[in-house]
Amino acid sequence: GATIGILGGGQLGRMLSVAASRLGYKCAIYEPGGDCPASHVANYHHKAAWDDVEALTAFGGACDVVTYEWENVPGTALDVIGKLAPIHPGRRALEVAQDRLTEKDFLTGLGLRTARYRAVADAAELRETLAEFGGEGILKTRTLGYDGKGQVRLSSADEAEDAMDAMGGAPAILEAMVPFEREVSVIAARGPSGEVVAFDPGENVHAGGILRTTTVPATLSTSQRTDAALLAGRILNALDYVGVLGVELFVTGTEMLVNEIAPRVHNSGHWTQLGCATDQFEQHIRAIAGLPLGDGARHADVRMENLIGYDMDGIPAILSERGAQLHLYGKAENRAGRKMGHVNRLIG
Ligand code: ATP
Ligand code: MG
Ligand code: MG
Repeated sequence: GATIGILGGGQLGRMLSVAASRLGYKCAIYEPGGDCPASHVANYHHKAAWDDVEALTAFGGACDVVTYEWENVPGTALDVIGKLAPIHPGRRALEVAQDRLTEKDFLTGLGLRTARYRAVADAAELRETLAEFGGEGILKTRTLGYDGKGQVRLSSADEAEDAMDAMGGAPAILEAMVPFEREVSVIAARGPSGEVVAFDPGENVHAGGILRTTTVPATLSTSQRTDAALLAGRILNALDYVGVLGVELFVTGTEMLVNEIAPRVHNSGHWTQLGCATDQFEQHIRAIAGLPLGDGARHADVRMENLIGYDMDGIPAILSERGAQLHLYGKAENRAGRKMGHVNRLIG
């Protein structure tokens, strides 16, 4: 059978491996770390550094198609692999999503709305831009941020020096604070022939920059629901995208602003495991393998809860709940803020 390669070995890689296996594929992961969530379920683990050309060559040569579960895979690694196997989603999607400035320029270039933003090089420029944005904003590192890491909220010019220092010299972008009513996300897939399937938007609650829960259906009007799907389709088509994409949105009154996009399966799409005949992981595997996309229609109301820094003593109680579906990632160490698993629950 064909082998699907996955760059990155976290929980998303683990759940992609399971989905691939259910469709009869073998999975090879490439992940520098040893005892990672995906290594427990994938058929092969290429454990080597991102700059190990020999290992990347062996990996690319062993795979029929390659994808990623982490958007910060170095371009140099993809250069090596790309000569040996097709990579989906393509390089453009990755380039756009790796840098918040490139990402926002791309989105606004498509005619989509985002928070006001500007790259800032020093504290003076930060103070000036902050004043322009109404005295409030979020300073973010342009690259490598996730789970709210590498972000500082500012509500006064006095905080500019410290905020700039917190970036540690990394290129940064200031975003205006969006007074959103709610956060939603759309998970959508595009196949190689251009067909698009969008899942129902989910409503997301974050705390401390980390996603806590996603609930479907989201509180949205019918036209907002349609807009969200169309907007995702626009992004997918513009990138000539193949695979699953996550789009995070801020809803304010009548408007929807794009917060960011993730060129991969997304934490806020985990509810599809309980709510849809084809979940986001299978949908991604179908798309990159060139199979027909599956039925993404939602057949239940679901709430996904992340188990973050979770006390495993609570697991038996979850296992005995009716209508609850537990997913654990097999992580040994339960550090604060670490995603250990999630629960999908039927609601309503
Ligand atoms: P992840 O990739 O894990 O979703 P991240 O580190 O890339 O997270 P963001 O999505 O940029 O972080 O921000 C995390 C959360 O912080 C958002 O979901 C939102 O709740 C809040 N936030 C970010 N930017 C803004 C903004 N401009 N205005 C208001 N709230 C914001
Ligand atoms: Mg992000
Ligand atoms: Mg985000």
